[in-house]
Amino acid sequence: MFGPLQDQPPQRKTEPARVDDPTCPSAAPARRGTTTLIAGCMFAGKTSELLDRLRCYPSNRRIAFKHVIDNRYRTDAIVSHDGDHLPAVTVTDAGQIPGKVVDGIEIAAIEEAHFFGTPLLNAIEALTARGVNVLVTGLELDTWGRPFPVMQRLAERADERTVKRPVCARCGAPADHSQRLTPIVDGRLVGGSESYEPRCANCWHPPPEPAPAEPQ
Ligand SMILES: [Zn+2]
Repeated sequence: MFGPLQDQPPQRKTEPARVDDPTCPSAAPARRGTTTLIAGCMFAGKTSELLDRLRCYPSNRRIAFKHVIDNRYRTDAIVSHDGDHLPAVTVTDAGQIPGKVVDGIEIAAIEEAHFFGTPLLNAIEALTARGVNVLVTGLELDTWGRPFPVMQRLAERADERTVKRPVCARCGAPADHSQRLTPIVDGRLVGGSESYEPRCANCWHPPPEPAPAEPQ
């Protein structure tokens, strides 16, 4: 199991991006109401990229969301595997998100789209219609290698899509699968990120346990 006080990541060693950082994409004012998708398998660096991009906006013009079931590291922050983090609002479903984005917010980041399922699509549409930029991360494939429908739909409609590929833990090729390393207990994916490693399609094997119903 994993919880807020366990599995603490190491401290980040590099300086975070700053609002005045010329590498920030928003240093030149961008079009408003855009959707940016950062996709990939586990340990691809999706969260680190989300945090760096989010920091390009002043703290009073940005907000970040995570699903309540995503309780790795901390419940009140989005935390990357290298320990970088920013505060986040925890929600139980996608429908709660638009109402929490007040006027003046320029960007809303949403971590781990696959936890929200396809209702997230309507929430994102409500935000972009108001001119809020949306930055969203998510896994392309579940533990059994099946695509998440919400991620497929987001890939089709995103204004910008970045696919991150870490190196396969076995052979060093670009990885697009998350390999389950520990048994699945009673159909539940017990354990956090320590139960996975990135693998390429050739080195990846689905868990021996049968897959549950198709993800939303
Ligand atoms: Zn491999």
